[in-house]
Amino acid sequence: SSPSLRRVVDPILETVAARNPGEPEYMQAVHEVLESIAPVLDERPDYVEAGILERLVEPERQVVFRVPWVDDDNRVQVSRGFRVQFNSALGPYKGGLRFHSSVNLGIVKFLGFEQIFKNALTAQGIGGAKGGSDFDPHGRSDGEVMRFCQSFMDELYRHLGEHTDIPAGDIGVGAREIGYLFGRYRKIMNRHESGMFTGKGVAWGGAEVRTEATGYGTVFFLEQMLERSGRAIEGLNAVVSGSGNVALYAIEKIQQLGGTAITASDSSGYVVDEKGIDLDLLKQVKEVERLRVSDYAERRPGAHFVRAGSVWDVPTDIALPCATQNELDGAAAATLVRQGVTAVAEGANMPCTPEAIEAFRESSVLFAPGKAANAGGVATSALEMSQNASRQRWSFADSEDRLRAIMTSVHDMTYESSERHGARGDYVIGANTASFVKVADAMLAQGVI
Ligand code: GLU
Repeated sequence: SSPSLRRVVDPILETVAARNPGEPEYMQAVHEVLESIAPVLDERPDYVEAGILERLVEPERQVVFRVPWVDDDNRVQVSRGFRVQFNSALGPYKGGLRFHSSVNLGIVKFLGFEQIFKNALTAQGIGGAKGGSDFDPHGRSDGEVMRFCQSFMDELYRHLGEHTDIPAGDIGVGAREIGYLFGRYRKIMNRHESGMFTGKGVAWGGAEVRTEATGYGTVFFLEQMLERSGRAIEGLNAVVSGSGNVALYAIEKIQQLGGTAITASDSSGYVVDEKGIDLDLLKQVKEVERLRVSDYAERRPGAHFVRAGSVWDVPTDIALPCATQNELDGAAAATLVRQGVTAVAEGANMPCTPEAIEAFRESSVLFAPGKAANAGGVATSALEMSQNASRQRWSFADSEDRLRAIMTSVHDMTYESSERHGARGDYVIGANTASFVKVADAMLAQGVI
């Protein structure tokens, strides 16, 4: 990149590194964005003069709090809670909560930073935030999960509100956790404020298609990307990682569109099912019984379970990383490319390492970055907020149509921005430039705040 750009970006990267030690994922996310918006910075010295970059990389507010709870053996446990309210230029803070043992401030900041741009791409008027805890619901009883959620909300409630900050789910936070969290908020506040949380049960203010939205949306984006290059999902194989909410519904939509999703994975290993994953069985095993994909393999004739190695060793046309950050590295990308992968779409947040993205770029594999491809979840959260505010209920079909329209628009906006910035078909540059301009314009208009 140009020397003038380096003069702008390098000091910011240095400051971010110095201020945020021990946060490699946050640094990775900042690098990825700042390195790809060069064409915008060249055109817009006013952004640089207004300190947009310096302000963007510093969260508006970060809350870290103690979450004490009592386990089933009557022992007091202390978890750590986080909420990073990153940027509210475009709307109230919006983003999920992640409960997983790997959660720390750096992870929450990387997710919150990504969320700013993802939310901007949805064009739904929502700012960026993220939160969570190092509490891991896996292996915990419903009672333990409930007590943890109640204690978590005992602090978090004061930072939330339908016009302030609206959480949702992420890894480890599904229907059960959202129920307990919402219930506690309602009790503390003595008001049924539906719009303060999304991903709620459909009977109590939740929206149709919110559960399916991230996975479906990723496949809708993929569909658009393939269509642009004269291809379709029909008849193609897809390797999907993960077996949570995003993976399940990515698999479902792939199968509905005539593709064959042949894998799923979790921390126990991965399963290969050449006939196509039996989704009812996978849902039963993972969601109802809360078991492992190895249990799926045991019950499904013809499927086999692989404990060691990587799901990316399986030859495929399409790769959908839907598990977690940095799950697909340079070596895995090289294997996928060698075995003929056509398109990769990130259902998870930042699942591909910078080396993996570079490998896909060099071999002209179609690559959809998460902040565009997985924006369907949060976009449908915004639809839930609309329904809550207007006390309406939209049907499943209507909601799915809206989701598809939003994903088409995210795709087109991203593609057009890649073209405008001299990198046609580079969806990383497209997503980062399109979203950055939206956030930067709003920040510019609202003054130094
Ligand atoms: N956790 C999801 C994401 O990564 C959804 C957030 C939301 O709906 O607020 O975008």
